[in-house]
Amino acid sequence: MDATPLCLFWKGFTVTHHEFLDSKTLRLQLEPDDRVTPVCSGCDRACFRVHDVHRRRVREAPLLIYRIALDVPVRRLRCPTCGPTRERIDWLPGRSSVSTTLRQWVERLVTLLPIRHVADLVGLHWHTVKTIDKQRLQRDLPAPDQCRIPRE
Ligand SMILES: [Zn+2]
Repeated sequence: MDATPLCLFWKGFTVTHHEFLDSKTLRLQLEPDDRVTPVCSGCDRACFRVHDVHRRRVREAPLLIYRIALDVPVRRLRCPTCGPTRERIDWLPGRSSVSTTLRQWVERLVTLLPIRHVADLVGLHWHTVKTIDKQRLQRDLPAPDQCRIPRE
């Protein structure tokens, strides 16, 4: 078992390098964990053939007093069923540059603070926070009852 607590946060990856970008921001470089087989995002099957790799800059929820920037190698797999597809990363859906953990943290904060304050606090652009909040509202609130909307 890995003794570092950081291995708990980014399933399938390990932290190989870190550096402070400024007094508030810590950049963590991740590499794929050799013990974890990549999984095709199309069919959810294990796939061992890697087509190519590109690095994605990802924003993560704060750790202690630091904003966290992740440098993540995202593999494109050569799946025998689906063809070239991205690997499934549980904590980083689709093409997102915001981790699921930070998205959940922002969703919690926007129920307590104005969007501008949340954006300043977590270091995301106002539009990014607004988009996350809008997606939360669309997901969590029921559609309005058309019968109860007054007509002129
Ligand atoms: Zn597949």
